[in-house]
Amino acid sequence: MNLRDLIQKIRNGISPSPQEQLSNEAVLGFLRVLETVDHEEITCDELYEKLDEYVELEVDKKDAAHIMPLMREHLDVCPECCEEYETLLHVVEITEE
Ligand SMILES: [Zn+2]
Repeated sequence: MNLRDLIQKIRNGISPSPQEQLSNEAVLGFLRVLETVDHEEITCDELYEKLDEYVELEVDKKDAAHIMPLMREHLDVCPECCEEYETLLHVVEITEE
């Protein structure tokens, strides 16, 4: 039984046999683990802690998004942090001038 067959069955609404049900759960469990490992995320607190570092890179015209990709990722999805970031960036720019 491969994953594709399993998904096909679920899509077709055929309830799997008890034995398949078990492997189905095992597969889903495994996928959840993969997802966690694959998709690193940072919280608002973690972003906040490193925000000044990130802004400094930006101000220095370094590739901040490349150096700290998780920060960039969070800023893309979190409007509150993005606003915080833009405010700080603005403040730093004014200060530097
Ligand atoms: Zn956030």
